[in-house]
Amino acid sequence: MNQVIRTQDGRLVQLRPVRLYRVTPPSPQAPAQMTPQPAARPNPSSQPAPAAAEQTRRHPALQPIPSGQAYRVTSPPEHSLATAPLASALQQVFEKFAPANGFSAEQPLSVSLRRGTLGLHRAGRAVDIYAIGEKGLRQWGTEWNSAMRQAATAPTPQERARLVAEEQARNPGYNLYKALQAHVGWAQPSSYPVQLFGPWTRGEGPHKAISDQLLSLHRDHIHVAK
Ligand SMILES: [Zn+2]
Repeated sequence: MNQVIRTQDGRLVQLRPVRLYRVTPPSPQAPAQMTPQPAARPNPSSQPAPAAAEQTRRHPALQPIPSGQAYRVTSPPEHSLATAPLASALQQVFEKFAPANGFSAEQPLSVSLRRGTLGLHRAGRAVDIYAIGEKGLRQWGTEWNSAMRQAATAPTPQERARLVAEEQARNPGYNLYKALQAHVGWAQPSSYPVQLFGPWTRGEGPHKAISDQLLSLHRDHIHVAK
């Protein structure tokens, strides 16, 4: 309930509720999971994943994600060092995705990856996808959002559906996200959400309850872990 008070000059004013915003960490490279918090209960909506400390120490053999028939990894090999299961899962997704979206050995899909530094990245169990085709994921995400805003103003449901379908058919960033989502077996550490985050997570899932903070950390890439 909003409270009404009288000011010194006799006016009646309503006290508006104060909205408390989450305090953001000092740098985007320092979300909560950097420091181990064994006693604290993890908050699945605000943390990507715990650091796999044990596996980090063991340093399992890591390998770069290889290029395939219809796709080329354009980033340096050291940017996509991953465990064998993750490398093979991503290879499978890209091999299927590229030809299904019109790419071929002659005209391969380009993919740019980065290794990342936090949580499951430390053990090579996560990879970040920053660009696909001719654009970065931030750009694909921005174009998707503006197409959806335009679709929302369409005069009829049919026109709205047509605009959405048009963007779905056109936007490889969105389609790669859906292809990754359709692939089962991504990491889901106990008490944490499935490790697939990107510009589409809030709208498409799997972790639709993604926090503003975690979403803003994944506006320019897709994070996936196994
Ligand atoms: Zn990541």
